[in-house]
Amino acid sequence: MNLKRDLVKYIRDRAKSKYKKNTECYICGSKESLDFHHYYSLTELLERWIVKHNLKINSVEEIMQIRDTFIEEYSKELFEDAVTLCHIHHLRLHSIYGKRPKMITARKQPRWVEKQRDKHYGLVR
Ligand SMILES: [Zn+2]
Ligand SMILES: [Zn+2]
Repeated sequence: MNLKRDLVKYIRDRAKSKYKKNTECYICGSKESLDFHHYYSLTELLERWIVKHNLKINSVEEIMQIRDTFIEEYSKELFEDAVTLCHIHHLRLHSIYGKRPKMITARKQPRWVEKQRDKHYGLVR
């Protein structure tokens, strides 16, 4: 068992029901195969948090005990700093910012998304 990987999974499982997933892609309005994209990578947030609090996680029980604290502390990043995209636009975002976008790009990504949306609706030439 890989605890570090599991940790992300348990946090995602717990937080998922509160995701404000939209019914259409923010960029193109498609209602097909929608994904919820986090501007801040959950994995990276978690890694930083573990280091910051000097946590040692050795069991699933410990994950269960700490996950709510993490979710509370990062509720903005988890629930607000995110966007609903169709699979195509989600893939395009990741092709630009990488499979696991670095934290330093978290402010750039929403600007890119806005630009694509404007392009889609013909607001820019
Ligand atoms: Zn789209
Ligand atoms: Zn994503």
